[in-house]
Amino acid sequence: MTELIQKQWTKHSIFAAVINEKAEIISIGKTTVTEANDPTAHAEVNAIRQACQFLETDRLPSGYWLYSTFEPCPLCSAAAIWSGIDGIVYANDPRFKGELPDWSFIKCRTMLEQGAAIHQVELIENFMLDEIKDYFIRHIK
Ligand SMILES: [Zn+2]
Repeated sequence: MTELIQKQWTKHSIFAAVINEKAEIISIGKTTVTEANDPTAHAEVNAIRQACQFLETDRLPSGYWLYSTFEPCPLCSAAAIWSGIDGIVYANDPRFKGELPDWSFIKCRTMLEQGAAIHQVELIENFMLDEIKDYFIRHIK
């Protein structure tokens, strides 16, 4: 998470990573919605896509976790469920989004609870929040 937060401060994108049970980083994604002309190219979706392509699977084996510098939106929370990932750790949350729209208009926790019948995903919220919560307040008016 330290590396992802550092990337957000210097490269100005939300960053996400898929990490295995040995704490090895399998993929790192950043938001590429504009560059890719793809409204679904969020950091978390990109990280999940890259990890699945690297592992040549449409369902991650057990022990994989998604780390994100921001609370995953409903799209990304659903992608995490479909990927079979074991858990999500996120840092910043919408209380600190400044004037930006609330991407997490359905809370990640709610999405994971509603999707638990498909796949259960653990959740750790506001991990290292203090390291990133001032980002949008400083960079977006
Ligand atoms: Zn998203």
